[in-house]
Amino acid sequence: MNIAMLARSEIRALQPYGAAEQVDDTIRLNANEAPWSSSTDRFRRPLNRYPEIRPAALTGSLSRYFDCNAQQLLVTRGSSEAIDLLIRAFCREGQDNIVTTAPTFSMYGHYATVQGAEQRSVVTPEEEGFAFDIDALLDACDDCTRLIFLCSPNNPTGTVLPRPALIELLERRGDRSAIVVDEAYVEFSDECSAAELLTQHGNLVVLRTLSKALAFAGARCGAVMGPVEVVRMLNAIQAPYALSTPVVECVEDALEQSCLDEARQNIEVIRRERERLIAELRKFDFVESAWPSAANFFLIRVADSEGVIRRCSDEQVLLRDFGGSLTGCIRITVGNEAENDRLLHCFRKMNGETA
Ligand code: PMP
Repeated sequence: MNIAMLARSEIRALQPYGAAEQVDDTIRLNANEAPWSSSTDRFRRPLNRYPEIRPAALTGSLSRYFDCNAQQLLVTRGSSEAIDLLIRAFCREGQDNIVTTAPTFSMYGHYATVQGAEQRSVVTPEEEGFAFDIDALLDACDDCTRLIFLCSPNNPTGTVLPRPALIELLERRGDRSAIVVDEAYVEFSDECSAAELLTQHGNLVVLRTLSKALAFAGARCGAVMGPVEVVRMLNAIQAPYALSTPVVECVEDALEQSCLDEARQNIEVIRRERERLIAELRKFDFVESAWPSAANFFLIRVADSEGVIRRCSDEQVLLRDFGGSLTGCIRITVGNEAENDRLLHCFRKMNGETA
């Protein structure tokens, strides 16, 4: 099975940019860099020099952390960039399509539009708890379906794609599409990463990010994992020197054991707080539903979502309206204990319980 054959022919033939050689202890007159670094420069690798074209040590550390071979992983500027690279590599303008569930993360459709590819959305019905329907996803595919994006846990519903369903989809779709599992929120769930299936399933691509559970959204760092030939193509498309020196050094530090231990403890707090918030919010009569979630957010439905969002915003608490197909739904990100208490205070106030 070789899904790289599904990619655009010009991308299959594309060679990566030939960057200037970087050798330690040499006089570098080959890259039009400045010979001095600024007096404000505090980085381990001085900023007058380009970063490595691809950060080799970081690729190694992230592949160990995300559990795959280094050749199967490309470090990206957040997982958003990985979505863009995949769609650009696989979809021919005006011909190919991507299949997603609905509702889901809007950037799959956004980048499909940028590329001139069609997005086909398969609704996960609310009455079925937003569960993924493998038959419906397969029915939506045709010969031009290059990528199937599955977000698990899904943004904004918090639903998880069960492992047997993923395996069924991988097997039934075979090498006719790449199945992309976006695991931006996987650390908050009880699931382990689908990366463990990469060796058996040559049509699987997995996206990870440091923006959520690892608390590095500002660093803009993520990773795409998949077959070596796919990673090679994405590498050829990605801008040279995509990861800047400050980001590389910051993420190298983020992967130190003490930092990972800290993140693990914080994930436990978020999981505990998520359950507390859902249980507390269900007590209000005006909260019609509060759906269970495996992520660091959850959905609620209220009679007047605009009013609730406005009243919370008046108290400096921002929530996300999910209007559209999810009438009356609000997505709430789980904060720290004090922030969540403040949210509950706003709800009590709306309920007329406090001044
Ligand atoms: N995937 C999902 C499901 C998301 O919700 C987000 C961010 N909201 C991303 C990917 C992108 O995150 P980042 O680019 O910060 O890695």
